[in-house]
Amino acid sequence: MSPSTPAVLRLAHATPTALDYPEHDGRRVVWDAWRMLAPTSHITHVCTACEKAGEPWLSVGTVHPLEGEVFLIPTSDGPLPGPLRERPAWPVRRLYAYRCAACGEVIIYDTIDGADWREVPYSRPTLF
Ligand SMILES: [Zn+2]
Repeated sequence: MSPSTPAVLRLAHATPTALDYPEHDGRRVVWDAWRMLAPTSHITHVCTACEKAGEPWLSVGTVHPLEGEVFLIPTSDGPLPGPLRERPAWPVRRLYAYRCAACGEVIIYDTIDGADWREVPYSRPTLF
Protein backbone atom coordinates (compact mmCIF):
# COMPACT_ATOMS: atom_id res chain seq x y z
CA MET A 1 0.00 0.00 0.00
CA SER A 2 1.20 3.45 -0.84
CA PRO A 3 1.86 5.66 2.20
CA SER A 4 -0.25 8.39 0.53
CA THR A 5 -3.42 6.22 0.38
CA PRO A 6 -4.93 5.77 3.83
CA ALA A 7 -6.87 2.48 4.02
CA VAL A 8 -9.75 4.08 5.90
CA LEU A 9 -10.56 6.34 2.93
CA ARG A 10 -10.80 3.42 0.53
CA LEU A 11 -13.24 1.56 2.82
CA ALA A 12 -15.42 4.51 3.84
CA HIS A 13 -17.53 4.47 0.67
CA ALA A 14 -17.46 0.82 -0.35
CA THR A 15 -20.48 0.26 -2.57
CA PRO A 16 -23.12 -1.94 -0.90
CA THR A 17 -24.04 -5.27 -2.43
CA ALA A 18 -26.88 -5.27 -4.96
CA LEU A 19 -30.43 -5.10 -3.67
CA ASP A 20 -32.12 -8.51 -3.31
CA TYR A 21 -35.55 -7.62 -4.65
CA PRO A 22 -35.69 -9.09 -8.18
CA GLU A 23 -39.46 -9.03 -8.67
CA HIS A 24 -42.22 -6.50 -7.98
CA ASP A 25 -45.93 -7.32 -8.43
CA GLY A 26 -44.86 -10.31 -10.53
CA ARG A 27 -42.70 -8.13 -12.80
CA ARG A 28 -38.93 -8.47 -13.24
CA VAL A 29 -36.86 -5.66 -11.68
CA VAL A 30 -33.39 -4.62 -12.81
CA TRP A 31 -31.60 -2.40 -10.28
CA ASP A 32 -28.98 0.25 -10.99
CA ALA A 33 -25.76 0.09 -9.00
CA TRP A 34 -25.94 1.94 -5.69
CA ARG A 35 -24.72 5.51 -5.86
CA MET A 36 -24.15 7.97 -3.05
CA LEU A 37 -26.49 10.93 -3.14
CA ALA A 38 -25.06 14.42 -2.89
CA PRO A 39 -26.83 16.86 -0.57
CA THR A 40 -29.65 18.53 -2.51
CA SER A 41 -30.89 21.05 0.04
CA HIS A 42 -30.23 22.50 3.49
CA ILE A 43 -32.37 19.73 4.99
CA THR A 44 -30.27 16.91 6.42
CA HIS A 45 -31.47 13.37 5.78
CA VAL A 46 -31.94 11.44 9.03
CA CYS A 47 -32.32 7.64 9.02
CA THR A 48 -35.57 6.45 10.61
CA ALA A 49 -33.87 3.27 11.87
CA CYS A 50 -30.63 4.50 13.47
CA GLU A 51 -31.41 8.25 13.59
CA LYS A 52 -27.97 9.16 12.20
CA ALA A 53 -27.74 12.06 9.76
CA GLY A 54 -26.13 11.68 6.37
CA GLU A 55 -26.91 11.26 2.72
CA PRO A 56 -28.16 7.79 1.78
CA TRP A 57 -27.26 5.50 -1.11
CA LEU A 58 -29.75 5.39 -4.00
CA SER A 59 -30.60 2.63 -6.46
CA VAL A 60 -33.35 2.93 -9.08
CA GLY A 61 -35.25 -0.18 -10.13
CA THR A 62 -36.50 -0.61 -13.69
CA VAL A 63 -39.69 -2.68 -13.68
CA HIS A 64 -40.30 -4.73 -16.82
CA PRO A 65 -43.88 -5.28 -18.04
CA LEU A 66 -45.76 -8.54 -17.94
CA GLU A 67 -46.23 -10.46 -21.20
CA GLY A 68 -48.97 -8.71 -23.23
CA GLU A 69 -49.28 -5.79 -20.78
CA VAL A 70 -50.32 -2.45 -22.33
CA PHE A 71 -50.31 1.23 -21.39
CA LEU A 72 -53.13 3.60 -22.32
CA ILE A 73 -51.55 6.56 -24.11
CA PRO A 74 -53.38 9.60 -25.50
CA THR A 75 -53.06 9.93 -29.25
CA SER A 76 -51.30 13.09 -30.32
CA ASP A 77 -52.23 13.77 -33.93
CA GLY A 78 -53.07 17.43 -33.20
CA PRO A 79 -52.22 20.06 -30.59
CA LEU A 80 -54.67 18.58 -28.06
CA PRO A 81 -54.44 15.10 -26.60
CA GLY A 82 -56.78 12.70 -28.33
CA PRO A 83 -58.49 9.53 -27.14
CA LEU A 84 -56.52 6.93 -25.23
CA ARG A 85 -54.97 4.14 -27.27
CA GLU A 86 -53.36 0.91 -26.09
CA ARG A 87 -49.61 0.59 -26.64
CA PRO A 88 -47.36 -2.31 -25.64
CA ALA A 89 -45.95 -1.56 -22.20
CA TRP A 90 -42.26 -0.80 -21.80
CA PRO A 91 -39.84 -1.00 -18.84
CA VAL A 92 -40.36 1.85 -16.38
CA ARG A 93 -37.90 3.26 -13.81
CA ARG A 94 -40.42 3.34 -10.97
CA LEU A 95 -38.76 1.91 -7.82
CA TYR A 96 -36.45 4.11 -5.74
CA ALA A 97 -34.44 2.40 -2.99
CA TYR A 98 -32.66 4.44 -0.32
CA ARG A 99 -30.03 2.77 1.87
CA CYS A 100 -28.68 4.35 5.05
CA ALA A 101 -24.90 4.71 4.80
CA ALA A 102 -24.56 4.14 8.56
CA CYS A 103 -26.77 1.12 9.34
CA GLY A 104 -27.77 -0.24 5.91
CA GLU A 105 -31.52 0.17 6.45
CA VAL A 106 -33.28 0.09 3.06
CA ILE A 107 -36.56 1.77 2.16
CA ILE A 108 -38.06 1.20 -1.29
CA TYR A 109 -40.66 3.52 -2.78
CA ASP A 110 -42.93 2.75 -5.73
CA THR A 111 -43.58 5.89 -7.79
CA ILE A 112 -46.33 4.41 -9.96
CA ASP A 113 -48.96 6.53 -8.21
CA GLY A 114 -47.26 9.81 -9.09
CA ALA A 115 -46.98 12.28 -6.23
CA ASP A 116 -47.85 9.79 -3.48
CA TRP A 117 -44.92 7.40 -3.38
CA ARG A 118 -45.91 4.08 -1.80
CA GLU A 119 -43.44 2.30 0.50
CA VAL A 120 -42.81 -1.25 -0.68
CA PRO A 121 -42.64 -4.06 1.90
CA TYR A 122 -39.68 -5.86 0.34
CA SER A 123 -38.78 -8.44 2.99
CA ARG A 124 -40.79 -11.53 2.20
CA PRO A 125 -41.04 -14.88 3.95
CA THR A 126 -38.77 -17.44 2.30
CA LEU A 127 -40.74 -20.59 3.20
CA PHE A 128 -43.68 -19.99 0.86
ZN1 LIG B 1 -29.49 4.13 9.56
